[in-house]
Amino acid sequence: MKYISTRGEAEKLDFEGVTLTGLARDGGLYVPEELPKFSAGKIRSFRGKPYADVAFEVIQPFVAGSLSDADLKAMLDATYGKAFRHPAVAPLVQLGANDWLLELFHGPTLAFKDFALQLLGRFFDHFTAKRGQKLTILGATSGDTGSAAIEGCRGRDNVTIYMLHPKDRVSEVQRRQMTTVLEDNVVNIAVEGNFDDCQALVKACFNDLEFRDRVGLTAVNSINWARVMAQIVYYFTSAVALGAPDREVSYTVPTGNFGDIFAGYIAKGMGLPVRQLVIATNKNDILARALQSGAYRADGVEATLSPSMDIQVSSNFERLMFDLAGRDAAEIRAYMDTLTAEKGFDLKQAHLEALRASFAASQADDALTAKVMADLYKASGYVADPHTAVGLASAAVCNTDPSVPMVTLSTAHPAKFGAAVTEATGVDPALPAHMADLLSREERLITLANDVTALQARIEQGL
Ligand SMILES: *Cc1c(COP(=O)(O)O)cnc(C)c1O
Repeated sequence: MKYISTRGEAEKLDFEGVTLTGLARDGGLYVPEELPKFSAGKIRSFRGKPYADVAFEVIQPFVAGSLSDADLKAMLDATYGKAFRHPAVAPLVQLGANDWLLELFHGPTLAFKDFALQLLGRFFDHFTAKRGQKLTILGATSGDTGSAAIEGCRGRDNVTIYMLHPKDRVSEVQRRQMTTVLEDNVVNIAVEGNFDDCQALVKACFNDLEFRDRVGLTAVNSINWARVMAQIVYYFTSAVALGAPDREVSYTVPTGNFGDIFAGYIAKGMGLPVRQLVIATNKNDILARALQSGAYRADGVEATLSPSMDIQVSSNFERLMFDLAGRDAAEIRAYMDTLTAEKGFDLKQAHLEALRASFAASQADDALTAKVMADLYKASGYVADPHTAVGLASAAVCNTDPSVPMVTLSTAHPAKFGAAVTEATGVDPALPAHMADLLSREERLITLANDVTALQARIEQGL
């Protein structure tokens, strides 16, 4: 399998190359040159199989040429056989006649990002050992990426991870899940700014090619293809459990950087019968606005009850636009130049129509998010986290056919956002036993100004 950049000016790479590179050298994102296609018979054969076995079938074509089947199998068994605390790994829960939740929070840091980052840590280990290289991981997090990435990389021999988070803008549980990891190869940095500032710092470091090569910089944000790839799997396992390929299934995805829902779009492209893909956003609704008006325009960031979705622009949207534009990299370069210069662009009519053909979108503000949490708890006793509640609100608005199962992705455990959950439902969700003492553990972090020079100096100091 070969990968190409959405901006068309970086070299083609194999899976090992894109995993170690992250952002393409032309500023674009890597996508598979061609998608593997699964027949109905192949999808049917996933029925009743353990998660790790389906993961092998789905992922194998994407890593062909870079990983042996035996190595891949061992990594998948270690990840999904052991690191997750539920035998189904990604269990479905029924909430209504044809409404389902896909619980993606049974991994070590209680959010869906563990699905990809537990695996990515193993890929890094494998490829760096093979090459005899060291890696510097640099990431920005609005909360959940950071802890999941740190958990995936802690203690690994050839990897140092620097994780930026917006100072005072992540929940206490989120912060402590990062800052209480005390291994020497983990550096937590609180940036005086918001999440987009953090993301801009990361991008600036990656675009400084000389710096990037000197420190061996690699990304763990969802611009890294391996993350999207790992998330394709649970669309297959859940759809098959609900009757696919002999029945269509719809999905609603609480969305920030567009990585998780893009994985659903890829699953559909591989042959999974997905009817609707609903983008659920909070107040930071650039995607919902773009779908409605065709104008993709940054509009500041507002803090909400669902902080992992508090983003200004969605980096993975570029991957989708590449498809909408018929894989014409020149179109993407033009759009992205306009985005940089004017903080937005207008989608061409044909591209907007293609977007609307594949996606629906809706927005939920904090009041609605809290109401959904309260109503669900009253109706069924189920306690959902605020990100999941944003999803449920959008699913209710956008669902066009109640005869098709609607699966809302439950992206975080309610205890990660305990204050918001308690406020809405009166219930104080307990942390799982392995984290019960989190609030009393020692923390380690440094604070930096929103300044790329200071960040680069800190990273060089650690070489
Ligand atoms: C990261 C995250 C999201 C958004 O996912 P994207 O792939 O960035 O769209 C939603 N919910 C939670 C809990 C998250 O951690």
